[in-house]
Amino acid sequence: MAELPGPEPGAGQVLVNVQACAVCRTDLHIVDGELPDPKLPLVLGHQIVGLVSGVGERASRFSVGESGRENLCDQARFTGFQIDGGFAEAAVADERFCLRMPESYSDLQVAPLLCAGLIGYRALMMTADAERLGLYGFGASAHIIAQVARWQARRVFAFTRAGDEEGQQFARSLGAEWAGSSTERPPEELDAAIIFAPVGELVPAALAAVAKGGVVVCAGIHMSDIPSFSYELLWGERVLRSVANLTRQDGEEFMQLAPEVPVRTQIREFRLEEANEALEHLRAGELHGAAVLKIG
Ligand SMILES: [Zn+2]
Repeated sequence: MAELPGPEPGAGQVLVNVQACAVCRTDLHIVDGELPDPKLPLVLGHQIVGLVSGVGERASRFSVGESGRENLCDQARFTGFQIDGGFAEAAVADERFCLRMPESYSDLQVAPLLCAGLIGYRALMMTADAERLGLYGFGASAHIIAQVARWQARRVFAFTRAGDEEGQQFARSLGAEWAGSSTERPPEELDAAIIFAPVGELVPAALAAVAKGGVVVCAGIHMSDIPSFSYELLWGERVLRSVANLTRQDGEEFMQLAPEVPVRTQIREFRLEEANEALEHLRAGELHGAAVLKIG
C-alpha cells in the first residue's frame, strides 16, 4: 500500500473515482516480469469500474472511433501496464476508451466483463459459427464466455487442469455438456477451441481436438513456448490464431449483449489492501470465476 498524489485529468481524460477493479492474468504476468517494459513504479489494474468525478480539457464523452484495427496499434499504451491503473482509489482515463457500464449490474459484478468478458467475446467471434466449442482453462474469461456460447446455442466442452473436479463441476453448472482434463480428448471432435490458460502445450492438444477446418484461438497476452508438433495437426485447413486486445466496437457490442444473455459473473471479493492475495489466488488457480477488488 502506498499514498500517492491524486491523479489530475489531462486533455481528453476523465478522472475516475474507482469503485471496483477486477484482477486479470495479465496483472500477474506484469508482476512476474513476463511482459517487457512496464511503467515503473506502476499502479496495476485495467478492469476499472468507477464514477466520472472530473473532466479534463477537450473531453467530450465517449466518442467511438472508426478504425477496425485499432487493437493492433504499434503505439498503444495500456492501462495498468504503461499507464497507472485501477488498483487504486482514483485513476485517470482517456475518455475515448471508456465504456458506459450496463445498469443492471453492480460495480463488482460488472468489472470482470471488462477484460475477461471482452477478450473472451472477441475470441468467441473468431470462432465464427462453430457449434462444438472447446474452452481450455476455465477461469474468469471462460466462465463468462460459456454463458454467451450456450445462449448462442453452441455446445460447450470445458478443459481444466488434471484433477480439478471443482473446476469441472463449475463448468458443467454453466452449461458445459462435457468437462474434463486438458490432457483428455473430448468425446467428439470440436469445431473450434479457445485457449485461455497461458500454457503453450495446450496448442497442439487443442489442434488435435478440432475437426478439419477448425480454428484454435489463443486468447491470452502471454503464453509459455509452444512445443513443436507434427504438421499433421495443422493439416486439413485447421487455423491457429491469437487475439490481441480489443476494439471499442467490441466493447460497445459486448456491453449491450451481456445484460441480454444475461451473463452472470461469479466473483470473489477482495479489499484493495488484499490485492497481492488476490493475485496469489489467481496464480494458484484457486479461483472459480473472477477476483475483484472492492474499492469504492
Ligand atoms: Zn486483462
